[in-house]
Amino acid sequence: MLTFEQLLETWDGETAVVHRDPESGAWIFVCLHSTRLGPAGGGTRMKVYDTPAEALQDAMRLSGAMTRKLAVAGLPFGGGKAVIAVAEIPSGEERRALLLRYADLVASLGGSYRTSSDMNTGEADMDVIGERTEFVFGRSVEAGGSGSPAPPTATGVYHGIRASLSHVYGSDDLDGRSVVVQGAGGVGSPLAEQLASAGATVFVADIDPGRAETLAARVGGAAVPADRVLDTDCDVFAPCAVGGVLSVATVPRLRCRIVAGSANNQLAEPEAADLLQGRGILYAPDYVINAGGAIAIVGLEQLGWGRSELDTALAQIGDTLRQIYERADAEGISTAAAADALAEQRLKVG
Ligand code: NAD
Repeated sequence: MLTFEQLLETWDGETAVVHRDPESGAWIFVCLHSTRLGPAGGGTRMKVYDTPAEALQDAMRLSGAMTRKLAVAGLPFGGGKAVIAVAEIPSGEERRALLLRYADLVASLGGSYRTSSDMNTGEADMDVIGERTEFVFGRSVEAGGSGSPAPPTATGVYHGIRASLSHVYGSDDLDGRSVVVQGAGGVGSPLAEQLASAGATVFVADIDPGRAETLAARVGGAAVPADRVLDTDCDVFAPCAVGGVLSVATVPRLRCRIVAGSANNQLAEPEAADLLQGRGILYAPDYVINAGGAIAIVGLEQLGWGRSELDTALAQIGDTLRQIYERADAEGISTAAAADALAEQRLKVG
């Protein structure tokens, strides 16, 4: 593991704020990777880490991903991320007090970093943070937020799947197409519903088999055991559960033509993107196809959008993917590399 000094020396971001919270013993890291296109936006992750350096590294890595995600989504925001590294996940009054102290830290950055929820933080936590600072997205509707980002994320993935089908088969028609949705959660459920309504045959897998069966029954599809997703014949595999599903070990097993889902960090290692390309499997880069939730909260809470502007922006995810696929084909590079190149280009001209 690298030391703090080594991490700071080798990071390509702008500013890392290091804060120790003496009351709880937590370490808080706020990483502003880029403010090139606007204030650094990104969620607050609360997690137990082995060492503070590991937490800093996570915040740095995640903030870089936010820069690319928000640039490709065409939003006037840079990339950031905060990590609250705790000894154990707090609850009750202890959690509230920690979040208020954290909110003061966010407020002290004067809007250069704007937060939202991430792993182990949610709407209720954003409401608490909102008591001390205006620089927070994703509060509850009652507190002035725009509600759960999961449904717009699913709609963005739906448009991304259609664009991917169009690229592979020459038609975005879902009728007669089969999709395996991995994860029957906040994103997977509305996605499965939209796909089924458009005529697709939907297979659902979840580590909770009851959840998979309930969703499969609701959409007129079938449940698949969680350990069989890679081996199931389908047109589209939609990972909507955990990261790291695409690796040197798993890609050779895939029996689909397209991988397009909401999960973050789908590539366990960069080589997996080249392997997918080599096997002729079209991969929709995760941070492009899963940007719908970020687009919704920024659009509705900051840019003053209404429903129709949001619908247009979510459909745009399909157009962006088409552009990425064409670039990948033209340059003979993986779709992951083409997405990164598009992000770089937007950061240069922005
Ligand atoms: P969720 O927690 O609501 O649902 C995840 C589901 O996946 C659960 O039903 C869980 O039981 C299941 N699951 C966990 N491990 C699994 C496994 N190994 N195999 C099969 N099923 C498994 O999460 P969500 O909000 O639907 O998000 C899904 C993914 O999309 C996550 O990777 C998340 O980071 C990403 N994402 C979500 C959003 C959003 O707006 N919610 C936005 C961008 C990206």
